[in-house]
Amino acid sequence: MASSSLIKEFQSLLGAENVMTEEADRQVYAYDSAVLDPVIPELVVRPTTSEALGHAVRLCNENQLPLTVRGSGTNLSGGTIPSKKNGVVVVTNGLNKILEINTEDLYARVQPGAITAPFAQAVAEKGLFYPPDPGSQSVSTLGGNVAENAGGLRGLKYGVTKDYVMGVDFFDVNGQLIQSGGRTVKCVTGLNLPGLMVGSEGTLGVFNEITFKLIPPPQASQAMMAVFDSVDKASEAVSAIIAHKIVPCTLEFLDQFTIRTVEEFRHAGLPTEAKALLLIEVDGHPVQVEEEAEKVRDLCTKLGATQIQVAGTQAEKDAIWQARRDALPALARLKPTTVLEDATVPRSKIPAMIRAIGDIGTKYDLTIGTFGHAGDGNLHPTILTDRRDKAEFERVDQAIEEIFNTALDLGGTLSGEHGIGLAKRHFMAKEVTAATLNYSRKLKKALDPNEILNPGKIIGG
Ligand SMILES: Cc1cc2nc3c(=O)[nH]c(=O)nc-3n(C[C@H](O)[C@H](O)[C@H](O)COP(=O)(O)OP(=O)(O)OC[C@H]3O[C@@H](n4cnc5c(N)ncnc54)[C@H](O)[C@@H]3O)c2cc1C
Repeated sequence: MASSSLIKEFQSLLGAENVMTEEADRQVYAYDSAVLDPVIPELVVRPTTSEALGHAVRLCNENQLPLTVRGSGTNLSGGTIPSKKNGVVVVTNGLNKILEINTEDLYARVQPGAITAPFAQAVAEKGLFYPPDPGSQSVSTLGGNVAENAGGLRGLKYGVTKDYVMGVDFFDVNGQLIQSGGRTVKCVTGLNLPGLMVGSEGTLGVFNEITFKLIPPPQASQAMMAVFDSVDKASEAVSAIIAHKIVPCTLEFLDQFTIRTVEEFRHAGLPTEAKALLLIEVDGHPVQVEEEAEKVRDLCTKLGATQIQVAGTQAEKDAIWQARRDALPALARLKPTTVLEDATVPRSKIPAMIRAIGDIGTKYDLTIGTFGHAGDGNLHPTILTDRRDKAEFERVDQAIEEIFNTALDLGGTLSGEHGIGLAKRHFMAKEVTAATLNYSRKLKKALDPNEILNPGKIIGG
């Protein structure tokens, strides 16, 4: 437990109003968006300046208090659940400024607690484009996005957060400010520290400022919905589009269960008899968009699409993407507990993965709605359950393990975008060698000898 003199020190450096010791305040920071047991932190601090953030890190280290940084707590892998022993949560919502949007050199600098969607909007207002668009973008922070290497609907063509990080300034465990990367398009000075920070889930350093690459927006786009009477045909269409060297900016999949649930939720006129839908958008130069959209329509038709609806107006386009955005909230209404998984396979293995998820649902007698970023092989099988039903939840655990095993057997990975955190750390040894884990642990130990930076996550015991 932090002593009263230490609490006074935090208060004098961060301001008394930014140090929370009351249980009611601390409870708010006990959980995140993963289905895991909450842990109430001993102390919650909210730095509002860079200096205060550095002081908070240093004080935690000097007093061996495990520190978990929290953006908006939307991660789905338990990354912000504090340590059971003396956990301190450092909240970044007091460091939420967009510091610069540079339209000459195409970069932006932000504080880690800036929210993703308003940032992308501010960039768009300057005539530029920041593509990463996680489904949580209206609340997630850019610091959280970098720490989880978040992806989104545009990942297929535009990549994920790592593809836009030019630099990260972060505090090391001693509270020293470390500079990494820069503002130039090319920067190979020193070790690739920004690369080390991306996806580090708060275990190697605490971000203070991030520099993002910006790009010009596409000139034109076209969105469409392709309706299929079989999951296999839809998933084969995904593989065929990619194999024909067309890279849509977005290529999303919804299975029948998800389509019907979304339709019940929104009454948007979705084809509820369809076994699967593909929601597709191509973008770029207007001529290229025309050509690619036509090829996509041809391929879907050849592969058995029963109907293709092209969005003629912005309202029709919005309706297509609303259907996708509704998938998770609509499914989540059906049962008290929603376990959103992140099975990711090489794109050619999508048909096999989707079939396997269906079989796993039947085997364990579970309701699983599947949707996801089919174009990049990243599916979100969503298990609807009630955590209080112990017998059913045990079957959920078994189903999840089988989903991971299948993804790995198909050459996939444990996480396409939700990170490892606490939720998947025990599965790491299934994907990487013992030497890989050892190397990562040695790195962690060298950079954080007291193991106070988000202990237990990714490689922690
Ligand atoms: C409805 C919903 C939809 C989602 N959709 C997507 C999606 O499409 N794609 C996707 O990739 N993810 C998605 N997610 C997961 C989640 O939104 C992302 O992982 C997001 O990047 C987390 O941001 P956050 O601000 O909430 O971070 P948090 O959850 O607060 O933190 C995430 C991790 O980052 C670390 N961290 C945060 N700030 C810092 C910092 N300043 N320095 C060091 N470490 C830090 C934390 O310690 C933690 O380990 C979704 C989640 C929900 C609930």
